[in-house]
Amino acid sequence: MARKPRIQTPTGMHDILPKDQPYYRKVYDVTDEIARFYGFERIDTPVVENFELYERGTGVSTDIVEKQMFTLKTRGGDNLALRPEFTPGITRSYIEHGMHNLPQPVKLYTYGQLFRYEHPQAGRFRQFSQFDFEVFGEESPAIDAQMIQIFYAILSGLKFKNLIIKINSIGDSQCRPYYRKVLSAFLKSNQHVLCADCRRRMKQNPLRVLDCKEEKCQRIRSQAPQMIDHLNDECKRHFKSVLEFLDETELPYHLDPYLVRGLDYYTKTVFEIFTEKSEDEETGSQSALVGGGRYDSLMKQLGGRDIPGLGAAAGVERIVSEMKERGDVMDVSQPRVFLAQLGDLPKKKSLKLMEELRKADIDVGESLGRDSLRVQLGRANRMRVDLALILGQKEALEGNIVIRTMSTGKQDTVKLEKVAAEIKKRLKRK
Ligand code: AMP
Repeated sequence: MARKPRIQTPTGMHDILPKDQPYYRKVYDVTDEIARFYGFERIDTPVVENFELYERGTGVSTDIVEKQMFTLKTRGGDNLALRPEFTPGITRSYIEHGMHNLPQPVKLYTYGQLFRYEHPQAGRFRQFSQFDFEVFGEESPAIDAQMIQIFYAILSGLKFKNLIIKINSIGDSQCRPYYRKVLSAFLKSNQHVLCADCRRRMKQNPLRVLDCKEEKCQRIRSQAPQMIDHLNDECKRHFKSVLEFLDETELPYHLDPYLVRGLDYYTKTVFEIFTEKSEDEETGSQSALVGGGRYDSLMKQLGGRDIPGLGAAAGVERIVSEMKERGDVMDVSQPRVFLAQLGDLPKKKSLKLMEELRKADIDVGESLGRDSLRVQLGRANRMRVDLALILGQKEALEGNIVIRTMSTGKQDTVKLEKVAAEIKKRLKRK
């Protein structure tokens, strides 16, 4: 009979195998530590939300909503979507739980899985993870600079060097419409050289043309009018102040007048963080590790109060991939003790003994399914433990256990109830 084809992970999705878990753990540990220091509290929102949340929040003319949503209809007829980003869900949660009643600003952070129907390639997947920070109820430009500082600190904590911050202001609902008009007119007069996608974007969302990675569009972009020259006084003042705060932090940043980010809700500050490594050698274009910005009108757009917001997110897979590429070795704590058992009674007693050792805070390796002492001690050797505990038939009957020092082969018999204390004493001596 023909074998059935093997079932594999869906396109663009990956298993995170045990060998890679320590990298992810490290990223989240550093994130937790810095979040705590800066007063951010953890929040978790559902992996699926109402599709309308992203239509109204992320925006209908964004790539995410236009092309990248995983949508589903429930048996009850609800239109849901797998979350493609965190910000709309967390903003919804702020509104739904009346967090405007809490002392402001409300600082929240999260990490987890996101889904985008992308064309899979290096560093671009259909299921990926981000850590994400959001601040609600704070207008001050100081917080824009602090958000950048936080992400810089996390990446530095993960030993990233040569980080590049790109920053821009894309104005607000007062000054951007006029700039859109000026930009549209410019693009219209150059549409014959734009790619097909940009000819379409030009009508719906002309700022997105500045984001295009096609070489011919990038050439045109360099002559395009810039938002920075069309900011109103308020946006200009805010941006100037963000840069002054950044100057104080002494973080290296570049003004990038073409940085617009792909989402509709951004106002004023937008930024991205790259490493030199994340520069694509072939195209010269870069893929960011972090992206973020201010979104002062999102809350209102989603039916909430007129409360400003600001957030950023980092791609964990991209971070882990760079950590692995540069050869970071993760310390995985290995047990220093191994329990070997011989015969039926010792095997039975082993389960209880393991629990006693766990309660005494002693990590123990075992091979309970094996019977041969040689095989078990071989395993203990490979695990490079300091001590092996050997529980044979005789010892089990007499309430004893043998402790073998692996480096010398010396063996001593001790009372079972004293074994935890004896192990601790011997490990301390090493
Ligand atoms: P965004 O939510 O698009 O602003 O992306 C923020 C960060 O998430 C990016 O800078 C990437 O590091 C990461 N990221 C975004 N999309 C993907 C994806 N499809 N696969 C892997 N990482 C991604």
